[in-house]
Amino acid sequence: MTSLQKSPIWHPFTQHALHDKMTRITRGEGAYLYTADHRRIIDAIASWWVVTHGHCHPHIVRAIQKQAEQLNQIIFAGHTHEPAEEVAAQILKLAPRGLEHVFFSDSGSTSVEVALKMALGYWHNIGAPRTRIIVMQHSYHGDTAGTMSVGARGVFNAAYEPLLFDVASVPFPAAGHEQATLDALEAACKKETAAAFIVEPLVLGAGGMLMYPGWTLKEMKRICEASDVLFIADEVMTGWGRTGTLFACEQADVRPDIACYSKGLTGGSLPLAVTLCRADIFDAHYSSDRSRTFFHSSSYTANPVACAAARANLELWQQGARERVTSLATMQERLIAPFRADVRFENVRRTGTISALDLKASDAGYLAGIGPKLQAFFERRNLLLRPLGNTIYVMPPYCITEEDLEEVYAGIKDVADELAGRRALRALPRWGGR
Ligand SMILES: *Cc1c(COP(=O)(O)O)cnc(C)c1O
Repeated sequence: MTSLQKSPIWHPFTQHALHDKMTRITRGEGAYLYTADHRRIIDAIASWWVVTHGHCHPHIVRAIQKQAEQLNQIIFAGHTHEPAEEVAAQILKLAPRGLEHVFFSDSGSTSVEVALKMALGYWHNIGAPRTRIIVMQHSYHGDTAGTMSVGARGVFNAAYEPLLFDVASVPFPAAGHEQATLDALEAACKKETAAAFIVEPLVLGAGGMLMYPGWTLKEMKRICEASDVLFIADEVMTGWGRTGTLFACEQADVRPDIACYSKGLTGGSLPLAVTLCRADIFDAHYSSDRSRTFFHSSSYTANPVACAAARANLELWQQGARERVTSLATMQERLIAPFRADVRFENVRRTGTISALDLKASDAGYLAGIGPKLQAFFERRNLLLRPLGNTIYVMPPYCITEEDLEEVYAGIKDVADELAGRRALRALPRWGGR
């Protein structure tokens, strides 16, 4: 055996045997990352979709510094603090009407676990035997056991599949096939065990940046309502301006029964998540009977420093963030439009600040290796892009300049040019994953 030196750190979604050399980052500022070998990288995916206002935004950094000196952790059972109270009050004002309570946790996955437990707790506590969760094909809701259960099944969770719980699944509403989704949802909702439908509004992120229109979302909500099935909006990725409005549900005038927000909640500075719910879900747990307590916590529930960062993020939303979202959406449209006429790409699409396009390639699946090849090409160009299989997407911080965004699209055009010689047009099944 050769004495291969293997990384002591086990990185996420990383096959160390193929990719053992990590890019060492020493500093971040705005849309830029600086490497130990003195390169400046444009972060075109907002560091896994979280950095909304740019790296190390001074307003958020100051808020973190100030809070860290005052109170940096407190048990949140039986205790409270101002940053959490202010964040909760502000979010309830901004979120779709009907959501009246906020439960804090520390990641998108956890916020979804909380949502599922709230839904099942609701039915359990009101004495109705509903336990079935309805999901959408190609969805991604996290990597914990519960969120894998409600997410797309595939190579990513094959080893764990025997432990995942059963769900009902409806097809993704591909353009022109929306009715099939609505019919399947209606049939699933009519089963008396149907407890909740969980969905990523408007854009399915890790499933390949798959987009569908607001009217479909609205119809899905109407169908759930007709059968009293709880509607859970997983806005972990779509929240905080990504789709052009603060929350994706807004533009479809959908009021979810439960909503999950995380990634951009602290502007991408610290881990934090919230799960919001309707009053009757909270009330179903409100009782002098202790067995009806909502039995969930994380050690760092509502960490004060993370909450202070979230409060600073909310302040930025009152100081021109909406305008930056609108202007980024316009720039994205201008720059992606020419690719609609480029035969080397298909499914050229955009919702708000997110754009995506599929490179026609013979080795298109997530595992087939085109993704890492594309990523390596972009890395040489000092661009942080991380294609999902053959799907290239651009989801930058809102502060990116037009010039830098042009640089990103020039890289995408050039990668197609470079691959042009060895291109074959065989379609392969789509994989989820990150
Ligand atoms: C990223 C993501 C999650 C999981 O969030 P983590 O913070 O990575 O646990 C859940 N749902 C959606 C829609 C996501 O995009």
